Amino acid sequence: MAESYDLIVIGSGPGGYVAAIRAAQLGLKTACVEKNTALGGTCLNVGCIPSKALLHSSELLWKLQHEAKENGVEISGSSFNFPQMMTRKQKIVASFNDGIAGLFKKNKITRLTGTATLVNPTTVSITGGASPQEVSARFILLATGSEPIALPFLPFDEKKILSSTGALALEKPPQKMLVVGAGIIGVELGSVYSRLGTSVTFVEFLDRICPTLDESLSKELHHILQTQNMQFHLSSKVTSADISDKQITLKVQTSSSTQEMSADAVLVCIGRKPYTQGLGLDKVGVATSEKGFVKIDGQFRTSLPNIFAIGDIVDGPMLAHKASEEGVAVAEILCGHSPKIEYAAIPNVVYTHPEVASVGLTETEAKNANLAIKTGTFAFKANSRAKCTGEDKGFVKMIAEEKTGIIIGIHIIGAHASELIAEGALAIQKRITLEELASTPHAHPTLSEAMKEAALATMGRAIHK
Ligand SMILES: Cc1cc2nc3c(=O)[nH]c(=O)nc-3n(C[C@H](O)[C@H](O)[C@H](O)COP(=O)(O)OP(=O)(O)OC[C@H]3O[C@@H](n4cnc5c(N)ncnc54)[C@H](O)[C@@H]3O)c2cc1C
Repeated sequence: MAESYDLIVIGSGPGGYVAAIRAAQLGLKTACVEKNTALGGTCLNVGCIPSKALLHSSELLWKLQHEAKENGVEISGSSFNFPQMMTRKQKIVASFNDGIAGLFKKNKITRLTGTATLVNPTTVSITGGASPQEVSARFILLATGSEPIALPFLPFDEKKILSSTGALALEKPPQKMLVVGAGIIGVELGSVYSRLGTSVTFVEFLDRICPTLDESLSKELHHILQTQNMQFHLSSKVTSADISDKQITLKVQTSSSTQEMSADAVLVCIGRKPYTQGLGLDKVGVATSEKGFVKIDGQFRTSLPNIFAIGDIVDGPMLAHKASEEGVAVAEILCGHSPKIEYAAIPNVVYTHPEVASVGLTETEAKNANLAIKTGTFAFKANSRAKCTGEDKGFVKMIAEEKTGIIIGIHIIGAHASELIAEGALAIQKRITLEELASTPHAHPTLSEAMKEAALATMGRAIHK
């Protein structure tokens, strides 16, 4: 007879594995099925973690080459060892693969390896592992994530025509790289290779980079990345490709002309789509949208009441922490709790140098919603800690409701923005006002004082401006 569980989670990414742990903590007999031999999903194996490891190594090189001398640190002939960068990245990934396996053991979660397919609303078949088997459960959680979108005339070979996955596993940096799509993943991976000496050119369909950012930050980031030798063609569309052994030539329609651009590698970062292949959704009747996202209600229930879905396969920002919040929420819902996710408080980060981080509404979004707002900015060049570390590019921008002063958007471009944004997320989650943030003591000298000053600036009271 099929082994029976309270909950079977399909997928061990940050949505699935976190849901499994929370469910086990709450006393549910839980199994997690993962088709890969390594746990952790896109985020750990081919996403957040390996990209940040390579961003760190390449940023260290950049700092030695561009910032050390000014600090009186002289190193002659800085060079890099690319295989060592890759080995370090892989070691970090492997340590977390083991870490999740350890957490599964600790929480008595059954780990099942193989591809899961829904047989009926309570039964899952698992193939491709050690031996095929069927398992059943009262509840099933789908957390199968997403995959990169390819252009029809540029099929990924992961050697010269790269998705983000291939770009994280190259044997050596290309001489020239064309990046199709200047969104978050594109500019992060483009930054890695640019710092390693690759000539990096972006082709972006829209008229600005990272279009989900507040426009002022998108423009500032564009400007800074240009000063780091990256080139951009905005309002430009790749229309065809000529692929040979050694190079790829793209035909690019810019706003004024058609150009040919060649490189030894093309990285395609035009977005990701939900991954539901082989899950058997149609067979059991789980409804999906036109774009392939699994349809859910306000409690993550699919069209079948005992099957739930979270993370990249459902609507919303494709972010690891969003998937994890949803995973925890589902486990708690199954146990009769009433969790609430404040989606407006989910931060978004671009790990370039400097970083960009934002939470809440952009100025355009606030205006489009007809909100009466006030905005204020504070530049890091007037922040003492930023001056001490030489990382004084960028600014903090705050957006608040005109009447109440409640903060509805915080946007940071600057060093360690990814860490500073935690205060912003708390501010949005708790609906705090400019006055409340500004009257909270912030340690001196710290970058976080720029948050306090930006709140003051929005009220017309900045001290150092
Ligand atoms: C290069 C890159 C950088 C990124 N950087 C960041 C970042 O800095 N911060 C951030 O928040 N987000 C980042 N993301 C996005 C983040 O990785 C995803 O939002 C997140 O991984 C989604 O989590 P998930 O649990 O929904 O799915 P995934 O992490 O995709 O996990 C899904 C898992 O399900 C498994 N699976 C699929 N089908 C089956 C099946 N039928 N049976 C068994 N197993 C199955 C897959 O093998 C996979 O392991 C990045 C993504 C990329 C590509």
